[in-house]
Amino acid sequence: MTSQVHDISRTKSAELFEKAKNYFPGGVNSPVRAFKSVYGTPLFIERGDKAHLWDADGNEFIDYCCSWGPLILGHNNAEIREAVSAQLHKGLSFGAPTQLENSLADLIISNNRYIEKIRFVSSGTEAVMSAIRLARGYTKRDKIVKFEGCYHGHSDSLLVKAGSGLVTFGETSSAGVPKAFADETIVIALNDKAALDKVFSDFEGQIAAVIIEGVPANNGLLIQDKAYIQYLRDITTSNGSLLIFDEVITGFRLSFEGAARYYDIQPDILTYGKIIGGGMPVGAYGASKEIMGHISPDGGVYQAGTLSGNPVAMAAGIATLSILSQPGFYEKLEETTLTFVKRIRDFITEKNYPVSIFTIGSIFWFAFSQDEKIQTADQIAPSSMEKYKVMHRELLNRGIYFGPSGYEVGFISAAHTSEDLETTHAAIQEALEIVFK
Ligand SMILES: *Cc1c(COP(=O)(O)O)cnc(C)c1O
Repeated sequence: MTSQVHDISRTKSAELFEKAKNYFPGGVNSPVRAFKSVYGTPLFIERGDKAHLWDADGNEFIDYCCSWGPLILGHNNAEIREAVSAQLHKGLSFGAPTQLENSLADLIISNNRYIEKIRFVSSGTEAVMSAIRLARGYTKRDKIVKFEGCYHGHSDSLLVKAGSGLVTFGETSSAGVPKAFADETIVIALNDKAALDKVFSDFEGQIAAVIIEGVPANNGLLIQDKAYIQYLRDITTSNGSLLIFDEVITGFRLSFEGAARYYDIQPDILTYGKIIGGGMPVGAYGASKEIMGHISPDGGVYQAGTLSGNPVAMAAGIATLSILSQPGFYEKLEETTLTFVKRIRDFITEKNYPVSIFTIGSIFWFAFSQDEKIQTADQIAPSSMEKYKVMHRELLNRGIYFGPSGYEVGFISAAHTSEDLETTHAAIQEALEIVFK
């Protein structure tokens, strides 16, 4: 029997949100936080510890949003906290090189066969924007190709039918992006070899790069087949275009070497963000020495940053990646995730509910559909989001925090205990019973 639960108290959060609306557009500093796609107003968070969050009203949640991916070790990890606090006593920023940048770069490059040189920036958006400029500078071509259902941050060239927040709000692109920019970006469907063929024949010799999310995870979880990614690798190579893997979510999430390792395919440029800074603002892009040699001051592609390689953020990154590089880390996390997902799947099958749960690494996504595979954006019915809204509300009421949109994936961290997962499992069963009542 489904237990009836009361709506959580949001008095304090609602008050804070009213105030925030005076300060920020929509009351937030990033649109999807506004809870437009789910019931109620956003929860204002006070603190996090391990897999748990506490909001301004004192409600406690088990967190599966994990700051949208960075927190693979959960909240308030002792090793990260100590590394950051040790650095805080030495200074926050110098605008000069530090040994910390070398240490983080060494940790990454010596454990990643896909890049030889790296450049640190301060966000995923900045990493991708710089990678696109590098590809254009390197190939001396202007056009780029992206996929419907992939999100690459909010730089102008890529706000063309972007996913996530934008799809949630039912828009296809952003106001303020000059048409001339959008004209340089060609958007095609995922998992469609014929579309790739057509792009390369229609724009022969003009395409600087094709950019794809390692595993698209910003608009549902659209896991691509290796054969398709291999096709993409081959067609870019034979046309002299670069292949960019945007690994801002998948980098250090699927494994230390991300989606490139998962497919066993060498892209030309890789972008990172989220986990790389352990919760601090860090992004990065990397490639071969030859391609990276085109970046300023060695080469003619300009890219810079006042706070790039920030020492406090580097310290958080080093502490995080040191833990992730230990043998067995990813195997254990994936096993935990699979066990969690399998139990939900068994329940869904037993009840014959029209919902599927997709998973890769420690990422999972609920699709309110019975398709066995979902690999393109248009396979996701907007109407299915109504069911997610109900599930989201029922989960919050039971102390489980999922991302505030059905297009968002969930993350399991190394801090989620079997007790956390057990509690969550019970809550999901009850929530689904209400969704399908
Ligand atoms: C989050 C994300 C970005 C943007 O990163 P920000 O740090 O939010 O600027 C870019 N690409 C992918 C694949 C992402 O998931």
